[in-house]
Formats: sequence, C-alpha cells, structure tokens
Amino acid sequence: MLRFTLSERGGNVCNYDGYQYTKKRINKLSEEWRCRDRKCLSTLSLCTSGTTILREPSVHTCTRIADATIAMEEAVGRMKQRAREETTSVTKIYSEEVVKTRDENPGMSTGLIFPSLDSLDATLYRMRSKHYPTLSTRLIADHWLLGAIGLALIPPPLVETTWVSLMDEYTPNDHETASEFNDYMVSTYVENGSARFGSDMWNVYEAIANRRPRTNNHVEGYNRRMKAEFPTHPHIYQFIDTLRKHEYKHHLAEESQVQVRRRKNIYDQIYIKLVMLHEEHKNKQLSDVQLTIKCGRAVKTRLFKTRK
Ligand SMILES: [Zn+2]
Repeated sequence: MLRFTLSERGGNVCNYDGYQYTKKRINKLSEEWRCRDRKCLSTLSLCTSGTTILREPSVHTCTRIADATIAMEEAVGRMKQRAREETTSVTKIYSEEVVKTRDENPGMSTGLIFPSLDSLDATLYRMRSKHYPTLSTRLIADHWLLGAIGLALIPPPLVETTWVSLMDEYTPNDHETASEFNDYMVSTYVENGSARFGSDMWNVYEAIANRRPRTNNHVEGYNRRMKAEFPTHPHIYQFIDTLRKHEYKHHLAEESQVQVRRRKNIYDQIYIKLVMLHEEHKNKQLSDVQLTIKCGRAVKTRLFKTRK
C-alpha cells in the first residue's frame, strides 16, 4: 500500500512495497516519483491525487527498506518535529515516540533499531535551539531559488540529482506555482537527455574550473566568459536572465570607464568565493546541495542582498 511520510524538511515521501520515493515531476495526468536512493534509477507513476499507482516501479538497484526502518524514521521525524514545536522535555518526547511505535508495531524490537537517546539528544536539542531556524517559508524559498541559480555553477553531472534533492527539500509548499516552476526547470534545463536546453548551453562550471586567477586580467576573461556562456535564449529562466542584466550593467560601466575598480572588486570576490566553494565540495565539506545553494548565493550580489 502507498504510505506518505514527511522528510526532515517537510517534503513528501512516498513509501511503497519496501521502497521510498520522492516526487520528481507533476504531469497533466500523472505524477512521477523516483527512488529516494539517488543512486537508484527506479521510478513510479501515480495519479495526480497520489492515490493510485499508474505504473509500478521499475527494478531497484538499491536495497529494500525494512518496515522497522521506516517506522523508526517516522518516529525520529516526529521526535524532531516535536522538539522544535513543543516544550516537552527531549527525554519525554523520545520515550513517548518509542512507546507509540511499539504500540503500533507489535513485536518490533525498537531497542535494536532505534538510535539511542544519547546519540539523538544533541540533534533534538539543536532542533529546539532558537538558533536553529525552523526554516521559515521564506528561507526555504530562498534556498530553492538560489539552488536554481547555482545549477549553472556546479559540475554538470551533478545537475540533475542535485535539482531533484533541492526540489525535494526546498520547494515552498504554500505556492501552487512552485511545482509548475519545478516541472519547467526539469523539462527545460535539468532532465538528462531530454531537457530542451542541455546543461552544455548554460552551465559555466568549466569556465570557473579552468580559470584560476593568476593575474588581474582573469577578471576580464571571467566576465567575457560568463557573458559568452550564459544563455541568450529568450525563454531562459528568469533568474539567470536577471543575473545577466545585472552583469550587463557592469559591462556598460566598464565601457564608459566608470566604476571599473568596483566591478573588478566584485568579480574578484565572486570568483574567489566560487573557487573556494568548489574546493570545499571536493574536500567533502559541502554536499552537492549545499554547494549549489552557496554558489547561487555567491553570484547573486544584488537581488536580495543578505550580509552575514
Ligand atoms: Zn531504489
């Protein structure tokens, strides 16, 4: 049977026959879901109300998830949510959710499969801390948009899997148009092999990777390269487009010999930041999703400036 649970960030997870799926895209008559294991290519089609299976999943290359594991994940998800939203003690939340799971799953040895309170409580307290953002809708939407921009700046092989994760974790759920934008992104830019504009048309990772700054002149090269490689097609997604307009203003400033120093400064900073982020990613300090969001933020100097 189909069962829906929430991911940590509040996205929908579909549980079916021992596997978990996240939504990939919504079509007119169906919803495409894909295996939550990003290395597995299995997909499943549901009707648009998410109640009926239109196409059974293709073969999984990942391992089946035990019922007990799913029950444990659900319970841990509830613990985290309650830690954020309630003032009940973390210890009490933990024991209540364990007992609830045992009640609902007679015979399940929760003690053998649940993370111990010791190993969880730092996480639960962090959830509770006021410094841990209950990722406001606004913040989620920011990450989502920055991620869309960042796709142009990450290694092309990561584009599809990363966008699927970004949709999964950050799609704002209070805007109907959000899923339309997701579909548009997937069919126009992201889907390997079938996107209208393949990543070779708009991704500038190579330009960044091959242009480590050696002299001040790199700034000029970078600017030209960005201008040459960024898409010129009128349907290109609006964020990149807005970004280009911003870049073009700098170009005009250069031509009239105005603000040259300032522009160089901005490009220097952006460039250094991008190179640094890619280094951190190579050293496994950043996940693909974190890299993408941070790259998006690095180039987005004007649209909504957030200084930390
Ligand atoms: Zn799978």
